Amino acid sequence: MNLFNVDKDYQNPTMEGYYGDFGGAYIPEMLYGNVETLKTQYLQIMQDPSFQSEFQALLKDYVGRPTPLFLAERLSKEIGATIYLKREDLCHTGAHKINNTIGQIILAQRLGKKKIIAETGAGQHGVATATVCALKGMECVVYMGEKDIERQAPNVARMKMLGAKVVSAKSGSKTLKDATNEAIRAWINEPNETHYIIGSVVGPHPYPDMVARFQSVISEEIKIQLKEKTGKEFPTHVVACVGGGSNAAGAFYHFLNEPSVNLVAVEAAGHGVNSGLSAATTQLGTPGILHGSKSIVMQTNDGQVVEPHSISAGLDYPGIGPLHAFLYESKRGTFLSATDEEALESAFHLSKIEGIIPALETAHAFSVLPKMNLKASDIVVVCLSGRGDKDLATYMEHL
Ligand SMILES: *Cc1c(COP(=O)(O)O)cnc(C)c1O
Repeated sequence: MNLFNVDKDYQNPTMEGYYGDFGGAYIPEMLYGNVETLKTQYLQIMQDPSFQSEFQALLKDYVGRPTPLFLAERLSKEIGATIYLKREDLCHTGAHKINNTIGQIILAQRLGKKKIIAETGAGQHGVATATVCALKGMECVVYMGEKDIERQAPNVARMKMLGAKVVSAKSGSKTLKDATNEAIRAWINEPNETHYIIGSVVGPHPYPDMVARFQSVISEEIKIQLKEKTGKEFPTHVVACVGGGSNAAGAFYHFLNEPSVNLVAVEAAGHGVNSGLSAATTQLGTPGILHGSKSIVMQTNDGQVVEPHSISAGLDYPGIGPLHAFLYESKRGTFLSATDEEALESAFHLSKIEGIIPALETAHAFSVLPKMNLKASDIVVVCLSGRGDKDLATYMEHL
């Protein structure tokens, strides 16, 4: 099915952070020093044995790793293939995002930073960041669109309870991309003492690679767990939803250069890919620069970012990480999409058939299983990126 060139290295970007044509660091001059320090030091710090032992200990005892790999028997029977669920929903704070924030807070401490800033849309990344700042006693400021603050009140309350300051972004559409702009502005004002914790595999190099490496624990565990359960390390398919692409990058990571494993990324089609209310970036976007890197971006002919739409706030992003743009362009990855309605249907169905209420983002990944023409011999791992508690208000409207 894939025509990709096995000589390509999908795991490691170039020194300048390029995956094929995508990536790099397009940043204001005021941030050069900060990003350059990060770029020259992140690999060294991450590979340091004392970093690794602190990171691994917190993943185990604080996050609750390894997360289980669960054989979904009723779902397997229905789909006609063997389906395993990688249970990131069981991580502390309810999703995979904390794998990255734990890694970045330890890194920030080693860089001598005093203050953490972050941006958040639905508040999930904000909560994961506020959590690790509380754990480490670091000052934390989270930028969030004014509209999202209203829509996501429980997560705003969580962040405040965890000791973070939540700053409202009042410009533009008052949502995630505006919060990101505000956070970048704040970073420019205090570049030396501040570390900016980006929540997905987006942003200027080295963030996409750094976040992918922190999230790669997901596929590291999948390989070991699958070997234990089936005798084989490699599934035939890995399926994950894509907002910026961090849970997908983590679930794909150790299979990226393994051509026998099909990598399936699922974007949010909103009301339908061509409805004007969608977040299916690879289907609608063109090459462009967004938030510090070159990737595929939903934009008008004159380069204005198009407002995305998805029922799930975590997928409501007009871009995609540069690794994913490269997986798409080179055909190493298969990019599918699911609408709001399909995601809702899958969320209700998974709850009834397996007793697991998934996050709305995650539900998109399940929607494509019946469309994949799977065979009985296929072994599919679905990354169950998060739990659905945060989406209960939406689910209640559709009960
Ligand atoms: C934030 C979020 C996503 C989307 O972010 P990625 O970086 O694409 O993983 C997906 N699922 C859940 C549960 C989330 O909280």
